[in-house]
Amino acid sequence: MQLNSKTKRIYLSPPHMGEDEKRFVMEAFETNWIAPVGPHVDAFEDEFCQLVGCKYAAALASGTTALHLALYLAGVRRGDEALCSTLTFIASASPIVYVGAKPVFIDSERSSWNMDPAILADEIKKRAKYNRLPKAVVLVHLYGQSADIDPILDVCNEYEVPLIEDAAESLGATYKGKNTGTIGRLGFYSFNGNKIITTSGGGMLVSDDTAMVNKARFLATQARDPAPHYQHSVIGYNYRMSNVLAGIGRGQLRVLKERIEARRHNFEFYREALAEYEGLEFMPEAAFGRSTRWLTCLTVDPKKFGADRDTILAALEKENIEARPIWKPLHLQPVFKGCECRGGAVAEDLFARGLCLPSGSNLSIKELERITSIMVSCR
Ligand SMILES: *Cc1c(COP(=O)(O)O)cnc(C)c1O
Repeated sequence: MQLNSKTKRIYLSPPHMGEDEKRFVMEAFETNWIAPVGPHVDAFEDEFCQLVGCKYAAALASGTTALHLALYLAGVRRGDEALCSTLTFIASASPIVYVGAKPVFIDSERSSWNMDPAILADEIKKRAKYNRLPKAVVLVHLYGQSADIDPILDVCNEYEVPLIEDAAESLGATYKGKNTGTIGRLGFYSFNGNKIITTSGGGMLVSDDTAMVNKARFLATQARDPAPHYQHSVIGYNYRMSNVLAGIGRGQLRVLKERIEARRHNFEFYREALAEYEGLEFMPEAAFGRSTRWLTCLTVDPKKFGADRDTILAALEKENIEARPIWKPLHLQPVFKGCECRGGAVAEDLFARGLCLPSGSNLSIKELERITSIMVSCR
């Protein structure tokens, strides 16, 4: 495809550094804490806990590694099953396979695009009868918006199934005033390059259970027994976050609020600029929470709008602008062929018609205007 080389590429969700990140990184160099331990790691964990309102946190190499440890800590083992949202990125489910378990996927509801609590409750109740309860539920908060946590937590608590929140895309989003990621037994976040704040790569595991977070740190540093020689009684991992990257994270935490407001502003800009055109339906904001609008998402009805989703994607790409379809549901992924899914029609429809627009917190009004005018010209 011929790219328009005269204009700088507009990315879907690029990094956006604040004022303090470089200073913290320099400090790591000056003090020679170039290691997966150090004062920035400790401070990043403390500051993160304060920001989201949880008791304990462990800074890790990625969100994926955080979920791997969370599943292990929740007791998910070889041959077990875990229920998981189907409309999400692969990393919400691949750690289920790392521990030797099998994912069973759950469809979304229309009002939040997240896991349908009624389908989940049905599935857990049915499984209780056959003595086949899942060992965990992985609940994803998609595109910056919380799922409807209360009914999900109720059924998990009733059947003593641990709830793990995948808040990789929803740092700073709230559910009834609480931060997503802090409500289930365990939660995790991602600081990958495209997330709302980034450390280039990284993750955070959180819980109010001190034993679990201590065990996560132990497993993440090769599971060393307390002995002066290197002694190991279980197999661990090398999953800790670098002190250099934790420095970036500390700087990014200080601008999270502004980043959320900028992304919400993008969403409002798109919605207002495109309001007069029929056939575009923006991702709803459920009444129970506040979305960060990490990505601005919408569905396209081609008959009403006059162009389909893929035509819009191609027109934007031709102008060197990155946009994406909504996640391909995991039950449709070749690698999960043969896995069970409850429902699936809502996620499939969102995937067929859904579009994610450039949503960086550093987008200019000029760029937003260019994007909307290209979309309109597709008709
Ligand atoms: C990004 C992401 C992850 C994985 O996080 P990494 O830090 O990239 O490993 C997990 N779940 C969802 C929903 C994500 O978007």
